Amino acid sequence: MKRDYLIKPVINESYKQISYGSGVYLYDKDGKKYLDGSSGAVTCSLGHGVKEIIKAMNKQAEKVSFVYRSQFTTEPAEKLAETIAKLAPADLNWTFFVNSGSEATETAMKIAIQYWQERGQYRKTKILSRWMSYHGITIGALSLSGHTDRRYRFVPLLDENPVISPPYCYRCPYNESFPSCGLQCANELERAIKRIGKDHIAAFIAEPIVGAAGAAITPPDGYYEKIREVCDRHEVLFIADEVMTGIARTGKMFAIEHWNTRPDMIVLGKGLTAGYTPLAATVVSDRVMEPILSGSKQIMSGHTYSANPQSAATAQAVLDYMKDYSLTEAAREKGKYLLNKLQHLQTSSNMIGDIRGKGLLIGIEFISNFKNKQPFNKQMNVTNMIVKQAQLNGLLIYPSAAGIEGDSGDAVLIAPPLTITELEMDELVSLFKKTIKEIENQFG
Ligand code: PLP
Repeated sequence: MKRDYLIKPVINESYKQISYGSGVYLYDKDGKKYLDGSSGAVTCSLGHGVKEIIKAMNKQAEKVSFVYRSQFTTEPAEKLAETIAKLAPADLNWTFFVNSGSEATETAMKIAIQYWQERGQYRKTKILSRWMSYHGITIGALSLSGHTDRRYRFVPLLDENPVISPPYCYRCPYNESFPSCGLQCANELERAIKRIGKDHIAAFIAEPIVGAAGAAITPPDGYYEKIREVCDRHEVLFIADEVMTGIARTGKMFAIEHWNTRPDMIVLGKGLTAGYTPLAATVVSDRVMEPILSGSKQIMSGHTYSANPQSAATAQAVLDYMKDYSLTEAAREKGKYLLNKLQHLQTSSNMIGDIRGKGLLIGIEFISNFKNKQPFNKQMNVTNMIVKQAQLNGLLIYPSAAGIEGDSGDAVLIAPPLTITELEMDELVSLFKKTIKEIENQFG
């Protein structure tokens, strides 16, 4: 038997080899077709093989593919930063480019700490986060992430621990319901700041809508307004991690715009290049840049491939395409259609407990008992069963997590390319329905 050389997510397990992609479909070496119902890892927002993007990539490759950022800048990088400034809310006018969402989180952490140093507050170094969250796989970003499976081997290396409850109304950590709860989950931030001491805290980071660790947990109205108010009152920066939710995915260019609030930094990745090349970004407000500009004038972060012109030209083409085809509005409208169809499915299912999200970021949580919302036994690994069965049926969906402990429940994300048609959404729902029925039959 042929040995493996590639270290795959599960080593030596057999993975299908993809030969090509077109629109919302991927095709493997044996000719099997898959409907990409999760845009890979909520990344390929435009679908596969889009000619306009490939043309822009080729055009840039013919000019120059690599320039070292400490020696030169390039037109694509400068233009892209300007485009992002125009799209971003409030005074988020500065962009630092990196290559992955994890690096963008790390850069935001460093900028937050540096901001307070430049203002003479050297003790403000802690970053607070929520315990159902995912901010990246590198050690700093993982420190902030409440993703048990991804953390447990490295706990001795992690500096921080997530401390705040998520705004998880389906399983309220306070056993309350909105609005009579008085947003206790947001008030918890203030209690944590008081406990730790505001003189030690640089920033609070949150995904506007929780992705990998909570299957599109969406906070109730007023949550982020309260978070902002608490942050302001205690001099704590607010970082919105929009690696999964940003760039039109939820029906707004940035998901935080669903609420009347203003982050100090936004972290981007995934949809920024729609998967065509690696690129991520930390978008920084004028307010945060001001003491750095009048102080050291340098941000101590960066990677060899930061601000890569090839990736910048790709992202510019992606943003132009989104504007030309009004994909932010499309995500909003298509999201309503898809959510409605999936909610219809819920009425005939024995295991769909909750469906939530915004735009084309939809989370589905599974339960074994409707009376007490009991999750399935963890050993059964129901999420994995569903994702695998869907793939057999030619549908790709993204495994997520659920349950009040963060890893005690089962959930998936459905997040197709924003270019998906109504007919393709119908096909997605019918493949998902078939998958759920097959799993339910296995449970008897
Ligand atoms: N932040 C969020 C919200 C994410 O969803 C992810 C990845 O899933 C990351 C950060 C890390 O991004 P990357 O995998 O590009 O390092």
